[in-house]
Order: sequence, then structure tokens, then C-alpha cells
Amino acid sequence: MNVKKRTPPLKLLQTEALLDRLKPPNHPKRSLIEKDVRKRKAGYIGEKSVDYHLSFLTDKKYMIFNDLRLPLAPDYFQIDSLLVTPCYSLAIEIKNIAGTVTIDPEFNQLSQNFKGIETGYPDPIAQANRQKLFLQKWFFNNKLPCPPIEFLVAFSNPATILKMSPGHKRIPPHDKMIHAQNLVSEISKMNTRFTREIIDVKKVKRLLLNQHQPSYSPILLTYQLTEADLIKGVQCERCSHIMIRKMGTWLCPNCDYVSRTAHLKAIEDYFLLIKPFITNQELRDFLQLSSAKTAAEILKSLNLKRTGSTKGTVYTKTFA
Ligand SMILES: [Zn+2]
Repeated sequence: MNVKKRTPPLKLLQTEALLDRLKPPNHPKRSLIEKDVRKRKAGYIGEKSVDYHLSFLTDKKYMIFNDLRLPLAPDYFQIDSLLVTPCYSLAIEIKNIAGTVTIDPEFNQLSQNFKGIETGYPDPIAQANRQKLFLQKWFFNNKLPCPPIEFLVAFSNPATILKMSPGHKRIPPHDKMIHAQNLVSEISKMNTRFTREIIDVKKVKRLLLNQHQPSYSPILLTYQLTEADLIKGVQCERCSHIMIRKMGTWLCPNCDYVSRTAHLKAIEDYFLLIKPFITNQELRDFLQLSSAKTAAEILKSLNLKRTGSTKGTVYTKTFA
């Protein structure tokens, strides 16, 4: 049962919004951002394909949480997919790496060979093992009996070739690196290994969902950009030209497209690119809108969390 569904990662949405609003077409950062959008999209598609394999676990005893980010003082830890059953928990780290992947257990590193280009990555086993330790601590901190915690590193691209470096056999812990299509059979093996019911699944579900905190990072800072690098205004969804407000609708002076809702994407862009909260003045500035009354009507219609009053009212967006 999929308890927490996967949605497009905030980082991907932010990078896409950035590409839509980056000012000059020949901006020096454009190609880097385009590359990152492609990479993040591929990663998301890879994660979705893992969700497909896990969708075969239809028994009610399985609870699947995708994209969890849990507090563990002083920081957070993130799990791509977490499977909770009454008898054990399984953290799945998803890797979307194309080409041939060679694992070197002596140096704890992984190298990718793709179209003749060699790239190194840290050993994902160490990363997944850390998550296991974090999870153990999480159960302890929440005063829950700690179940057996397993981890797997799932390679989402079925065309990826997994290899051990010469002279090394695939022995534990590297037998935990698998192709995503083998997830269900690995889980069946775990079911026979762990048979003692130890987890209060309802309680764990409630705690996990309550404690999940999406991560919001300032994307402009990441790319060392400022608001001056962004196109302001409501963009036409047909031709990207800036639209004008006319009789309660948005009109594109370039292609004559008319929209009642074109501002929604612009406001979403503001939240993704600038900060997850906005005032009336900031909205007018970003949408290039002169009327405070129209801005107030728009903000009211969005069902956002409101704090403060009159001119100082702040509207906050909550990301899932
Ligand atoms: Zn247009």
C-alpha cells in the first residue's frame, strides 16, 4: 500500500521554473541549469519506475513511504522509499546511473562508464547503511521498539550493467545493490527471514507522516543568481510573452491568448524561486500589477495560510 505517494521533487520544479524565467536567452548559467533539469527529470523518472515495481506489493501489511525527510537533531535524513511491515523496515536508496557501473569495495567507490566517459561516485552502500543507522535512531528517539532494519540500493535503469571490480566477488554488503526489477523477490526473502511482529504500523505511519518535512532550498543562491536574473510578470502559456491584465483576465499582446488563470503559474514560480511566502506588495511587483485591490483578490482566492493583518499580511505556501 502506497501511503506517501511520490510527487515531482521540489528541486526539479524549482529548476524548471528557473529555466522559464531566466532573463537573457544567452545567460551564461542557462546550459548548466538545462543540464540539471535533464538530470533531475531522469532521476524522478527512475524513482517512478521503482514505484512501479513496488506497486506489486498489494498486501495490506506493506506500507510504502516515498521521499521521506525526517528530523534527526541537529539535521534531517532523507529516504527515497521506505517499506514498513509489522516485522521489519526496509530503506531503499534509488540510483539512476546509466551505462556500466563498477563497484570497488577496496576504495569504497563506484565508477560509471557511459559512452566512454568515466565518472566516480561515493559507494552507495555506505550511504544506505548510514540511513539504516539514522532509522534505528529515529525508532529509538520516538520510543518505539526497533525492528530489524534492512537496506537495498536499487538501480532504476534496467539497462545499467552492474559489475564488481576485477578480483572481487559480489559478497555482503554489496549483494544489497540490485536492479529495481528484483526488489519484490528480495522483499519475499526478507519476509521469510523476519516473522516476528514487532512494529505498531499504525503508530509508525502516523509519526512518519507527521514528522515529514519537505526541504526548501533557495534556488537562486544555489546558482549564485539574484532576482535581477529573472523575468517578472505573468507569462503567456502559449508564447511566453508577458501578459497584461485587462477586465479581470490576462491578455497576451503578442499572440492574443486570453487566460483567467495565467497568474497561478507566476505565483507558483515566485514561491519556487524567491521564497515560500509573499505580501501584497511583493505580488504586485512580481506580477507587474498596479492594483493592490486586484492583488488582494488574487491572494484571497489562493487558500494560502495567512499571518499578520492589513498591509503586513503574509501569505505562506506549504509544499508537500
Ligand atoms: Zn502569447
